[in-house]
Amino acid sequence: MSEERSLNFIEEIIENDLNTGKYKTLITRFPPEPNGYLHIGHAKAICLNFGLTKKYGGYTNLRFDDTNPVTEKTEYVDSQQEDIKWLGFQWKNELYTSDYFDTLYNYAVKLIEGGLAYVDHSTADQIAEGKGTPTEPGTDSKYRNRSFAENLELFGRMKNGEFADGDCTLRAKIDMTSTNMLMRDPIIYRIKHAEHHRTGDKWCIYPMYDFAHGQSDSIETITHSICTLEYVAHRELYDWLIEKLGIFPSKQYEFARLNLSYTVMSKRKLLQLVNEGVVSGWDDPRMPTISGLRRRGYTPESIREFCERIGIAKRENLIELGLLEFCVREHLNKTATRVMAVLDPIKLVITNYPEDREETLIGENNPEAEDKGGYREIPFCNELWIEREDFMEEPAKKWFRLAPGAVVRLKHAYIVRCESFKKDNQGNITEVVCTYIPESKSGEDTSGVNVKGTIHWVSVKHAKTAEVRAYDRLFTVESPDSEEGDFKDYLNANSVEVIDTAYIEPYLANADKDGRYQFIRKGYYNLDKDSRPNKLVFNRTVGLKDAWTKANK
Ligand code: ATP
Ligand code: MG
Repeated sequence: MSEERSLNFIEEIIENDLNTGKYKTLITRFPPEPNGYLHIGHAKAICLNFGLTKKYGGYTNLRFDDTNPVTEKTEYVDSQQEDIKWLGFQWKNELYTSDYFDTLYNYAVKLIEGGLAYVDHSTADQIAEGKGTPTEPGTDSKYRNRSFAENLELFGRMKNGEFADGDCTLRAKIDMTSTNMLMRDPIIYRIKHAEHHRTGDKWCIYPMYDFAHGQSDSIETITHSICTLEYVAHRELYDWLIEKLGIFPSKQYEFARLNLSYTVMSKRKLLQLVNEGVVSGWDDPRMPTISGLRRRGYTPESIREFCERIGIAKRENLIELGLLEFCVREHLNKTATRVMAVLDPIKLVITNYPEDREETLIGENNPEAEDKGGYREIPFCNELWIEREDFMEEPAKKWFRLAPGAVVRLKHAYIVRCESFKKDNQGNITEVVCTYIPESKSGEDTSGVNVKGTIHWVSVKHAKTAEVRAYDRLFTVESPDSEEGDFKDYLNANSVEVIDTAYIEPYLANADKDGRYQFIRKGYYNLDKDSRPNKLVFNRTVGLKDAWTKANK
């Protein structure tokens, strides 16, 4: 799909590691926390991790990073799997950090036995205070020098539920004067009396991210553990734990997370939008979630192409939403079936076309496709719906559509001349009155009449109706996260526009739920899951106009 590109820095590292024989098999993982639905940022990490093992061989594990019992749900596990598959990737092993709880516990015991971890009864505030600041060293906790026997016993009692939440923690004993704050005796286990979605009430102590993540990588012999830049400072601890435990040396590499304009991307914030009813759910077509984009009519190909185009950077940046739209528009232009739909109708009457006559015209489904995407039948008669905006009572300069005395071609049909029009008593146009040129039929036009404009239409007698939903960006500012105040202060109040009754050609009555359609001159549309046999609902995936490349040329 995309042109040849040079290697990104992670590919360079991997090629070097494979060439020097450091690893025989490349093993990566995608480690989502099942605390929400995946979003376009996750898609980038998915395309990267799975893309690398597709390119270099080896495999990718799907590991649910489920160390926080409170926020995690099976619903999220299921949706995350569905989204990865839909994007076109298959993991080798489905794994859960919670499956390693016993191993991780034993690793903690090993650290205690080596004098490298201790149970601390300090409160959260005391621990924070003892940490010092980036410019001042921390101070040792008064519990730091307990005997390992005492630590072992206390850790066992923590596990057995003898303490309440917050009574104590297990901390790695590293260096309270380290310039890296994360190395100042980080907490590696905390007490949480909470039901876990997989282990139930077996555990009341849970490992912290830093203790679970690297060790899980190592258990799975992950060769390249790829994460986002926030974890740069964690790498020292990652390496320290692996070294002290003497386990498989997985290595961590960091890349810049994807930030996309006019949206927010943290699951926590997206959950707020869902819970507060700002959107209809995780798969609301305005959401940057993979399920939202899917429902909106995005294709997996277009999302993969987007991830490919933005590449892998070492510095944070903000990617234009327009680029994502460009990618889907480009793919749909190649694949979508062209149809006619009138969203804001007025009637056009052809006075010299017999009232009782009907004919069937033929339209190609996709002029971009080699076989034209096949052909469909389009019924035609003397009364048609056309767009209100295609008629102007007093035409502007260079107006090539309908106006008194003007001629246009009706797409796939005839040339018509506007003879007159009718208005209601409020001054609204209600009818455009035309005559047609019988010998001007598309494909066999012998009329010799030249027209500059072509408009779309739907036969009144044969039209079906549909609801059509158009979406706009969810926020009014490029970066709601970096504005003052709450990100929800910047919501776009007009992010959805619903047309109750649009007229569509009868071909669309059998629209496929996975079908992609171009409403000629309007945009790309797909069927929404709210559709019922007697009430079709379409989403506008993206408009036809390409604002992005124009602005960036
Ligand atoms: P969120 O705050 O949105 O929940 P997260 O990083 O906490 O994000 P995880 O479920 O822990 O979400 O992430 C799984 C993987 O996806 C991680 O490897 C993470 O680095 C990656 N990831 C998450 N968000 C992005 C993003 N915006 N761009 C690129 N990768 C991301
Ligand atoms: Mg997270």
